[in-house]
Amino acid sequence: QSLENICILGATGSIGTSTLDVIRRHPDKYRVFALTAHRNLEQLKLQCQEFEPVYAVMPDPELAQELESFLTYNKLNTTVLHGADGLEFVASHERVDTIMAAIVGAAGLLPTLAAAEAGKKILLANKEALVMSGALFMDAVKSHGATLLPIDSEHNAIFQCLPEHFVQQGIQHCGIHNIVLTGSGGPFLHKDLSEFSSITPEEACAHPNWDMGRKISVDSATMMNKGLELIEACWLFDVMPQQIEVVLHPQSIIHSMVRYKDGSVLAQMGNPDMRTPIAHAMAFPERIDAGVAPLDFMEISQLTFDRPSKERYPCLSLASQAMEQGGNTPARLNAANEVAVEAFLNRSIAFTQIAEVIQQTLTSTEYAKALSLEAILAADEQAREFAQDLIQDMTIHS
Ligand code: NDP
Ligand code: MG
Repeated sequence: QSLENICILGATGSIGTSTLDVIRRHPDKYRVFALTAHRNLEQLKLQCQEFEPVYAVMPDPELAQELESFLTYNKLNTTVLHGADGLEFVASHERVDTIMAAIVGAAGLLPTLAAAEAGKKILLANKEALVMSGALFMDAVKSHGATLLPIDSEHNAIFQCLPEHFVQQGIQHCGIHNIVLTGSGGPFLHKDLSEFSSITPEEACAHPNWDMGRKISVDSATMMNKGLELIEACWLFDVMPQQIEVVLHPQSIIHSMVRYKDGSVLAQMGNPDMRTPIAHAMAFPERIDAGVAPLDFMEISQLTFDRPSKERYPCLSLASQAMEQGGNTPARLNAANEVAVEAFLNRSIAFTQIAEVIQQTLTSTEYAKALSLEAILAADEQAREFAQDLIQDMTIHS
């Protein structure tokens, strides 16, 4: 049996390192073909030493040069590439079987799209890419015979709760009533609303159940993450926002559910550890060991559920409205959110201003039906510029 060649886009991140952890357990099944990083040179050096990929990519030419010197000195055969071309090259390389799309944000769109156009098996963590490009991305997957498997724990859970034939027949023909998308509510579920404006980046990044990158941690605190996931689910499973119910479930044990017309509800459960959905998607339709502790029901003792409050989580409504409006609105929403989260992490704006920046960007930038890649990228850029100017104004006046 030949090894499955995997390319990890965003190898140095939280999802990337969890993926390598699963691969490490199955050297007889997987081979690391390519690894990519952005700024974390030291981590990528260690990963290259351990996994000896055929290619390593750093978009920045200077960092790539440094990596190359290191690899040459250590007599490793990895070829180093740089630039956006390098990412697309490895993502669509003919020897690659599977792509782990784990770059954070819009930066992941082009390489992930290249993988779709090359008909690869794509394990999708980079939800922002799908939120931005929705129909275009799904069309590329279909028309090039690519396989798309969700890594986001909720979508992976939904995928596991759907019958296998949903891919061919469409979800409408599977007797489904709706999808229940669960979310923990993040670290501020019980915090007094009057204290929201003084929330620090450190507090926002300390998620009670999951250990994740900084951007998605802030998204979880505002619940924009759930909003992006709602959009992601609409595209992945071909449903409308009204067919998705968002439910707060602070323990993060049930990762999402599918409610059927006969009254059955199927849920996928597990400890909150991304290695479970990663291993599921990597081995699908088989099952492999992910190194995750078995769920101990006596330890959990209770599972609770609640309705998300609109006042506490304005970003959730912004996202669902964006999906209903369609066109370039999800791309503008995502771009404004990326800029606002970055500004919050840099302490330029308050936590509560994240939603304000997004809302104002959406009302002040132009709606378009946006079907082409160029139109999507233009909407992304326009929204980023607007949000940046807005933040500059906010900073001057505070
Ligand atoms: P991290 O911030 O931990 O990692 C992001 C990765 O992307 C790093 O390898 C980083 O490189 C790389 N990267 C960042 N910016 C660029 C860029 N401009 N060009 C190329 N590469 C870049 O994020 P996570 O691993 O937490 O998240 C990755 C994706 O997975 C996100 O889309 C997130 O929403 C999604 N996801 C994450 C979950 C989690 O539990 N972490 C759960 C569900 C989804 P470097 O570190 O070298 O700078
Ligand atoms: Mg998720």
